[in-house]
Amino acid sequence: MKKGIHPDYKKSTIICTTCGAEFESGSILSTVKVDTCSSCHPFFTGRQRFAQAAGRIDKFNQKYGIKE
Ligand SMILES: [Zn+2]
Repeated sequence: MKKGIHPDYKKSTIICTTCGAEFESGSILSTVKVDTCSSCHPFFTGRQRFAQAAGRIDKFNQKYGIKE
């Protein structure tokens, strides 16, 4: 590797802001915050979070005055 051009790759803690899970991984940052992880993403849990989906549809309907 060429010297002086590569960032310092070190052990880092990945923190999920949705479920609070922590993982060890490697990065140039000491901590990385992620929105979703394998503990809470619907693909891995097999569970859909309808509350969030419904919220967005409701917001759209309100914005454009659509009633059911
Ligand atoms: Zn998570």
